[in-house]
Amino acid sequence: MTRSLVLAEVVDGVLAPVTAQAVAAAVGLGGDIVLGLVAQDPEALVLAASLAGVTEIVTVAVPGTDRDHEQALQAAVALVADVRPDQVIAGFTIRSSSYAAALGHVLDVGVITDAIALRRDDSQNLVATRSVYDGRVQAEVVLDGSRPGVVLVRPSSWEPVEPGGAPVVRALSVEIAPSRVRSVELVRPSGDVDLARADVILSIGRGVGSQENVAVFADVAARLGVALGASRPIVDAGWLPAAHQVGQTGSTVKPRLYLAFGISGALHHLAGMQNSRTILVVNSDRNAPLFGHADVGAVEDIHDVVEQLNLLLA
Ligand code: FAD
Repeated sequence: MTRSLVLAEVVDGVLAPVTAQAVAAAVGLGGDIVLGLVAQDPEALVLAASLAGVTEIVTVAVPGTDRDHEQALQAAVALVADVRPDQVIAGFTIRSSSYAAALGHVLDVGVITDAIALRRDDSQNLVATRSVYDGRVQAEVVLDGSRPGVVLVRPSSWEPVEPGGAPVVRALSVEIAPSRVRSVELVRPSGDVDLARADVILSIGRGVGSQENVAVFADVAARLGVALGASRPIVDAGWLPAAHQVGQTGSTVKPRLYLAFGISGALHHLAGMQNSRTILVVNSDRNAPLFGHADVGAVEDIHDVVEQLNLLLA
């Protein structure tokens, strides 16, 4: 029977939602699932970490903050030695990316990032699907099943498991060597939008044309009571804070409805929103690639559409 070690993600002392998605990826492989819970006070997180499918939680208390990747690496190495998993799984995030390559190096095993599907083949090798060449090709990457591969999974590709498991909880004592990481200042993205949790997102792209027009769409989004997202050029231009950016270097979102106005559908943008349940696209160019992912599409000028919306909302 296969055994997964899922490395929980803790952000500012709170269990991050991506943990439930990483557990879901492990559930798909079957077998035992051990959740490695590394935090300053892991006991306080055990209830939140008792997710469906998790058979055991192994806690590691560490002295530093959850932003210390040297400490995270040491804890992960100790967990692997203790749990002896067939695979190590974590969400594909900035935090996991900061220690996963080093973990692969220390264990001398392969690391696969940004997996969108995961399975074992007939020879029990671990097979992860990755989107490559800007999403034009889906590649299957195979890790030799005799060694514990490390896989970082794209959060939006798995439905999170529900809370409510009844795992066995065990503390693992790990001597953490002094870290060379110093946390100088925590700079949070400005803006008050939490796109990852939004149910409906109205997202704007370069097609809006100007900062003044951004305000028009922001107003419509506010009146509809939906979150405002954006493609990267809007953020790069300083028209909206970084918290609004959807995509590879922005938020990964999975809303019930994603409304894309004046966004072409570059692969970096798609990476962040293509798992939205319903996608509505408005673009004046009928060949815009995003139409290829749309459930509903309108070849229209977005300014005409927003004008109509404004009339409806008046
Ligand atoms: P464009 O590609 O310029 O598209 C604008 C669209 O608006 C066009 O399709 C046009 O037909 C339409 N349009 C214009 N006027 C109108 C109108 N009046 N009415 C209707 N439609 C109109 N991008 C992201 O979004 N998120 C990321 O996280 C991200 N990360 C990146 C990371 C890297 C390493 C790199 C290299 C790039 C990244 N990008 C990201 C940038 C990405 O490659 C694209 O350049 C970007 O997504 C394009 O944004 P856009 O669709 O708004 O602009």
